[in-house]
Amino acid sequence: MNITVTKTQTPKEKPVDESKLGFGSIFTDHMFIVEYEEGRGWYDPRIIPYQSLSIDPASPVLHYGQEVFEGAKAYSLDNGEVGLFRIRDNARRMNQSAVRTCMPELDVEAQYEAICRLVDLDRSWVPASEGTSLYLRPTMIADGACLGAHSASSFIYFVICSPSGSYYPEGIKPIRILIETRYARAVKGGMGRAKTGGNYAASFKAAKEALDRGYHQVLWLDGREQKYVEEVGAMNMMFVIDDKLVTAELGDTILPGITRDSILQLARDKGLPVEERKIPVTELFEANAQGRLQEAFGTGTAAVISPVGELTWLDKTIIINNNEIGPVAQMFYDTLTGIQKQRVEDAHEWVSTVPRFN
Ligand SMILES: *Cc1c(COP(=O)(O)O)cnc(C)c1O
Repeated sequence: MNITVTKTQTPKEKPVDESKLGFGSIFTDHMFIVEYEEGRGWYDPRIIPYQSLSIDPASPVLHYGQEVFEGAKAYSLDNGEVGLFRIRDNARRMNQSAVRTCMPELDVEAQYEAICRLVDLDRSWVPASEGTSLYLRPTMIADGACLGAHSASSFIYFVICSPSGSYYPEGIKPIRILIETRYARAVKGGMGRAKTGGNYAASFKAAKEALDRGYHQVLWLDGREQKYVEEVGAMNMMFVIDDKLVTAELGDTILPGITRDSILQLARDKGLPVEERKIPVTELFEANAQGRLQEAFGTGTAAVISPVGELTWLDKTIIINNNEIGPVAQMFYDTLTGIQKQRVEDAHEWVSTVPRFN
């Protein structure tokens, strides 16, 4: 790609206190953008100062939710370089989501180059303190004036970056989860496998009602029978039962998490038995009653690992591992964050270093 670069004339003030970064409200000086027109393909890739988008009010993204996104992180490494974790897998998943929502694919190497060039230019925004990172949000939307209820013919792919604080400023604390029994996030044949905005819109009401009841997240069951455990809002779920790592098998209702895949690989590397299968919610409660449910945790880019201390289903509540992080979750957290910071051997070459372009 021939990316043109327009640097900002008015650099923003960088946050000084990295302990107050929070998540997703501060953005770097620049963004990447490339446009698509049917018959012409992708054109005019450019890095420009961070700014508002101007799109037609009849853009399909605004009316029909034709949108997909990714979430990834860049890390400041001990040697002063910036590392990206499995970023080509994010690019591949972006394309899978795009195909599901009738949007064009953008070559994985083109996405990789765009992200590297952008992060290189804004590398001084990558925070350095423990647990912090530069969150990356590649996004694709359908634009153009077209209220007809069919796929658009023009699209925008862009990437924005947001320095984000440590997910666990006060140490890892287990969360309380409510198993959702009234709403559904995804159904067979639907869009659950795609990282698309509509799945999030579908989940906010349940999440808010759970929050009002003192829970941090909801755990979704399959949309048809509400019988099998699927995933949490933005995390896949894993359980340790009888010393085995158990997680829901992928299908078209579950987002194929890159953290999920990494943990399963690490488990296989370490000789921990792995089961990817249907998990009846009743099995969890039975295993707990028999003392066989050892741990539960979520996996996702934001938290990496989020231990679950309390699980409620209908009128039953169970406490898992004394409401403390368990040894398996702790081991995966240490290994994966260690690889991301290149302090632990990266046997699968998951981390790439952002080149210096100028
Ligand atoms: C992004 C996401 C995940 C986690 O995926 P990672 O690649 O591990 O960050 C899980 N579930 C849903 C619904 C998601 O959108």
